[in-house]
Amino acid sequence: MGHETPLITTIVAGLGLAFLFGAAANRLRLSPLIGYLIAGVIIGPATPGFTADIEIAGELAEIGVILLMFGVGLHFSFSELLAVRRVAVPGAVGQIAIATLLGTALGLAFGWSLGAGLIFGFSLSVASTVVLLRALQDRRLIDTDRGRIAVGWLIVEDLATVLALVLLPAIAATFAEIADGNGFAAADLRVLAIALGITLGKLAAFALVMFFVGRRVIPWILHVVAHSGSRELFRLAVLAIALGIAFGAVSLFGVSFALGAFFAGVILNESPLSQRAAQESLPLRDAFAVLFFVSVGMLFDPAILISNPLGVLATVAIIVVGKSVGAYFIVRAFGRSDATAMTISVSLAQIGEFSFILAALGLRLEILPKEAQDLILAGAMISIVINPFLFTWLDRRRTAQEGEQAAVEPEPEEAPPETSTLTGHAIIVGYGRVGSLIGDALESEHRPFLVIEDRNDATQALAKRGVQVIHGNAARSDILAAANVGAARRLFIAIPEAFEAGQIAEQAREANPKIEIIARAHYDDEIEHLVQHGADHVIMGEREIAAGMLKYALGKDTGLPEEPSEPSSSPDPRVPSTAT
Ligand code: AMP
Repeated sequence: MGHETPLITTIVAGLGLAFLFGAAANRLRLSPLIGYLIAGVIIGPATPGFTADIEIAGELAEIGVILLMFGVGLHFSFSELLAVRRVAVPGAVGQIAIATLLGTALGLAFGWSLGAGLIFGFSLSVASTVVLLRALQDRRLIDTDRGRIAVGWLIVEDLATVLALVLLPAIAATFAEIADGNGFAAADLRVLAIALGITLGKLAAFALVMFFVGRRVIPWILHVVAHSGSRELFRLAVLAIALGIAFGAVSLFGVSFALGAFFAGVILNESPLSQRAAQESLPLRDAFAVLFFVSVGMLFDPAILISNPLGVLATVAIIVVGKSVGAYFIVRAFGRSDATAMTISVSLAQIGEFSFILAALGLRLEILPKEAQDLILAGAMISIVINPFLFTWLDRRRTAQEGEQAAVEPEPEEAPPETSTLTGHAIIVGYGRVGSLIGDALESEHRPFLVIEDRNDATQALAKRGVQVIHGNAARSDILAAANVGAARRLFIAIPEAFEAGQIAEQAREANPKIEIIARAHYDDEIEHLVQHGADHVIMGEREIAAGMLKYALGKDTGLPEEPSEPSSSPDPRVPSTAT
């Protein structure tokens, strides 16, 4: 099946099964990542039946890495990167040393050569970009201090991998000579030094070209394209720049795809407008990140679990426990908080694409035994599966430590929070630009309300202020039930996503036919959708903006719904309803 169209077949089978298993995992309250990995195992060569093209899947996964790192670069500034270097550089180097040591010891215990042990250990030391960024993005941690350290750490690991990939063949040759009984000669050292020098030179050349040429040329190209007036061309330009630079970084400078894409993002990052435009042009990113997990699943051969269970256990222990404990103490030694150290340890307690590349090279150079590669793949698969649970555990631990109200629920996979005892209250869904204004107004009026919000930092800030808050997606029925929606008086759905808002309105209406539902929309068809799903009033943001603008230009009587300059204090605020 699909032999003539391997690319299409791989994409369709990969995304299709990932969707099915991801949805199933979600229903079971597990991370969808687990579903994607299982989809990969099913279409992989280790299981009977259809087998997708593993090479193509790997390349598609690489596009995911490029787009993800490009996205990270878009948010990152050099100054922020430099600000975290004091922790990130020694941290990453220290952690690599610890994991390499542990891995080498395990390798020697298995009777492998020292070279095999070193490569094995090093492979276990470098974390996966995709897994780390997914975890940070899901928890909106990228722009926090912890997130920046983790990303800086990742970049150092990435650089170390690039160096290792270049140096490995030279080191392998040296080891081979020693094995042949020729001993270690000064010539070997020279070969190593030259290889190292060339790599560092290429890295520096890439950075310089990006800094002096890229920084001028890329914004100029975008400027010219923006003037063409075609949004499509603009997005295409952004995508072409991201992929083109990543590709150039690899083929011209021997830098990794990930690093190249990261630099491209950093360069676009300098102007906020191009940043937002670039952000919009990344809908492909998530799809390709899914294909990354599918391709990891495809590489996994479950037989290793039976043939060498102790080896698998020890490998996973190094990745999940050894690396984390090491990272924790390093971060703490640099004076960072327990929370920061824990987040970084957990973020890095997994391995992925870099490890696969290293293992494949070790195998090709005939240093690494096949068994080591199998262990690395099993370690990757298992550590990626465990990772979301570690984050959940971390959130739970933090909640318990801070002694917060039972109303704060750590993660979507959690058990449902206790039901609020508030009655006759208002529920605000989403505490962003809109919800926070509503909350402030209700608070100053001393009206009872609670907030449902799925952003970690927002829920924590609210809980600290003593506001009742439920952490989670309000589209989940147990979250709405925990807000005691049946006894609530009013529901403000202050989120921008109308589809989700419709789900929330529908469930709230079902639970409480009398509740007054006020929702937010940005397009006309969204108003209709929300009303159909039970909203009483829908406020369209753009109309309010137009009304506000016209008020300045033409005075009060604009014919559009008036924008209330102050939140109404009457018990039944007059909401300018566009549809009732
Ligand atoms: P803004 O667009 O600035 O008003 O922000 C919207 C806020 O709503 C953000 O803080 C989101 O985290 C939050 N949000 C979006 N969707 C949901 C949801 N389904 N459940 C809970 N909070 C949400």
